[in-house]
Amino acid sequence: MKYTRLIGTKDILPGETFPWVALQNILRDVSARFGYHEIITPLIETTNLFIHSVGDVTDIVSKEMYSFKDKSERDITLKPEGTSSVVRAYLENHLTDLSKPVKLYYIDRFFRYEKPQKGRYREFYQYGAECFGSDSPAVDAEVIQLAFHLLLSMGMKDLILQLNSIGCPSCRPRYREQLVAFLKLHENELCSECKLRAATNPLRVLDCKKESCQAVLAGVPITTNHLCRDCAQHFNTLQELLTALGLPFQCNSRLVRGFDYYNRTVFEISSIFLGSQSALLGGGRYDDLVEMLGGSPTPAVGFAMGLERAMMIIQESNSMAFVEPSTTLWIANFGGITLTESLSIANQIRQAGIRVEVDLEGKGIKKSLESALKRGIPYLLIIGEDELKNRLFTLKDLQKKDQQSLTLQEIIGTIQNSQMNSL
Ligand SMILES: [Zn+2]
Ligand SMILES: [Zn+2]
Repeated sequence: MKYTRLIGTKDILPGETFPWVALQNILRDVSARFGYHEIITPLIETTNLFIHSVGDVTDIVSKEMYSFKDKSERDITLKPEGTSSVVRAYLENHLTDLSKPVKLYYIDRFFRYEKPQKGRYREFYQYGAECFGSDSPAVDAEVIQLAFHLLLSMGMKDLILQLNSIGCPSCRPRYREQLVAFLKLHENELCSECKLRAATNPLRVLDCKKESCQAVLAGVPITTNHLCRDCAQHFNTLQELLTALGLPFQCNSRLVRGFDYYNRTVFEISSIFLGSQSALLGGGRYDDLVEMLGGSPTPAVGFAMGLERAMMIIQESNSMAFVEPSTTLWIANFGGITLTESLSIANQIRQAGIRVEVDLEGKGIKKSLESALKRGIPYLLIIGEDELKNRLFTLKDLQKKDQQSLTLQEIIGTIQNSQMNSL
């Protein structure tokens, strides 16, 4: 019997884990510089949480959730996204009492039963940032600034920010009416999915990628023409702030997000990847979600970034920050006392921060030389009985192809110097 991983899942193998952790270190470091604090929520939540927050007519809830009953017949779901859980935790743990705004971020794994494709998995990682407690457009601007800072720190280039405002509960219904009337007129030209969406979730039609729908949408009523005064003001101020911060943006009146809970600002940042524009992260304002989930009215903004795609772009860039340093020194020995001493000497050298491996089978110089070359290890140290007697050891530099007889202290010094020089 052979076991294979489930479709849409991925093993992160040695060699891939280092850039993965390096990426997470950047995310944590930059988030902290913006005053964000990490939150870790459980992988499972009650199914109802997502039905109420994400919305039961969205694709995520209606088609893509991993939901099941546990042994006590509770309805449980593997988290399909991060914001709902963060809001749930924010309320349940009284983070509402903290001084506002409350800035949280997460690095977490999520599950969606989607068609797997390159860079998209059924189990996937996301970074997300959420800021609670202020409706100031400066919060939207700072969240976008954080997103840019993260992507630039990861070495991403040619970033394109798209921006839209989808209004609030006081102006959106009027827009929605006009949109529904427009879609009704063109019902026969819409794809089968959009025919359904026109009745259940008309805003989502705006972001249908099918050509037939795109053609219809050329004449669609535009969200930003139907904003109330407050929403228009908010959107204008945000644009002024982004301009002042030197963050370039394009207004895209057809940009909407896949969740029901967004209002006012929605945004997406993409980059050119493998010749085509690829979305890296998206987010927006969700001023009503905290109240929808049982809290008092609390404006909020956030975004989420898929880490698999980010990882693919980072690997393309060949940046040294994401390359794992290899073992620096291999110790050859001849078994018996020379192996025991090798283990002890290896540890003394490790104390100096050097990566050391020992021939654990004591098979002598030839085998060790082979192993070191195969692994790309630059230094080989030979520990035999004579060397132990004299406390002078042969250090071979496998790149320069020379060797010296040195004391342990001199060996550490030599390797440290060569590491300093290669930085
Ligand atoms: Zn409004
Ligand atoms: Zn469509």
